[in-house]
Amino acid sequence: MGNGVGYFGIFGGAFVTEEIKKLCDDLETAFKRYINDEDFINEYNYYLKEYSGRETPLYFAESLTEHLNGAKIYLKREDLNHLGSHKINNVLGQILLAKRMGKTRIIAETGAGQHGVATAALAAKFGMECDIYMGAVDIKRQELNVFRMEMMGAKVHSMTHGNQTLKEAVDGAFEAWTSDLDAFYVLGSAVGPHPYPTIVREFQKIISVESKRQILEKEGRLPDYVIACVGGGSNAIGSFSEYLENEEVNLIGVEAAGKGIETNEHAAAMAKGKIGIIDGMRTKALFEEDGSVSKVYSISAGLDYPGVGPQHAFLNDTNRVRYSYATDDEAVEAFLLLSKVEGIIPAIESSHALAKAIKLAPKLDKDKIIIVTLSGRGDKDVAQIKEYLA
Ligand SMILES: *Cc1c(COP(=O)(O)O)cnc(C)c1O
Repeated sequence: MGNGVGYFGIFGGAFVTEEIKKLCDDLETAFKRYINDEDFINEYNYYLKEYSGRETPLYFAESLTEHLNGAKIYLKREDLNHLGSHKINNVLGQILLAKRMGKTRIIAETGAGQHGVATAALAAKFGMECDIYMGAVDIKRQELNVFRMEMMGAKVHSMTHGNQTLKEAVDGAFEAWTSDLDAFYVLGSAVGPHPYPTIVREFQKIISVESKRQILEKEGRLPDYVIACVGGGSNAIGSFSEYLENEEVNLIGVEAAGKGIETNEHAAAMAKGKIGIIDGMRTKALFEEDGSVSKVYSISAGLDYPGVGPQHAFLNDTNRVRYSYATDDEAVEAFLLLSKVEGIIPAIESSHALAKAIKLAPKLDKDKIIIVTLSGRGDKDVAQIKEYLA
């Protein structure tokens, strides 16, 4: 237990049934084979460019920088990907892997529906059958995304046990996976049993591979800070990966503090969590006294997850990455500010990372550089923000 294959220090592992362990082992074998296969990587890069529109710009937010009168702020524009977020980087990689493994049916869980939509799109594109598992409560809350998935040919299965949200969706997807050996489970964040956290990181790493090259071109040096929001941690680990060995680059992950971490209405697993097992991995997560997983809350559906990916728990323990948080109020303020001064409407998830940058930049010298990952676009959030402000 711990420190072996599939572990980041004491975090990670695969705490799953024998049946699922076997499926995870097969997946690991295939992943190891194809991640070093030139044809596979060429195909992945081809679709990232031609289908999703990469590379995404590293945009100097001149107006925001002037407004804050401090460090230079650059935005890594993952919002400009096809479907409006970073999620496609990972889904594309996993679906191409499924294709190589000869799988004909795709399974995925989804909470807010963003991962489900990306999965449905790529399953459609590659002619695969697609089953999406989603909590009944989320199905009601995210009607439009359910309709999108169905339009692209996916079948959305309603989970009606427990809280009827993301946790139950994961249960449904795992169950479906064990009962169909020809299915491939596309997992949506840097979480879950080994090898998923590693697979997701490798497919999201493109964010920092590009941003590092881009900042060296634009500024001739590395950034002083890289800031990204953390739900399960996929856009954050992708944003940090290439800088981990550059100790002079400060890396900051930002969790959702909801109505404040002193309340029970937040999703700040790193700030307030304990070590335990959730969704097949050992990590930091929010648990109740009786050991059950806590109900979490955030204005942002994408950050509304009770745990963090195991590599983040490890990077926190080793102090390589600092984890901070932003409240609903701070995120909404950041959402409005970026819209107003740059004409870019950010996802409410990404607005948490922006909120941190907005606090930090004025305290830094003007020659300092901050990169903020704009994980997604905010069109999906406009109605909710309008309601919040009323
Ligand atoms: C899903 C989502 C997130 C949160 O997921 P991570 O795995 O933590 O990246 C953040 N931003 C957007 C736009 C999302 O859709």
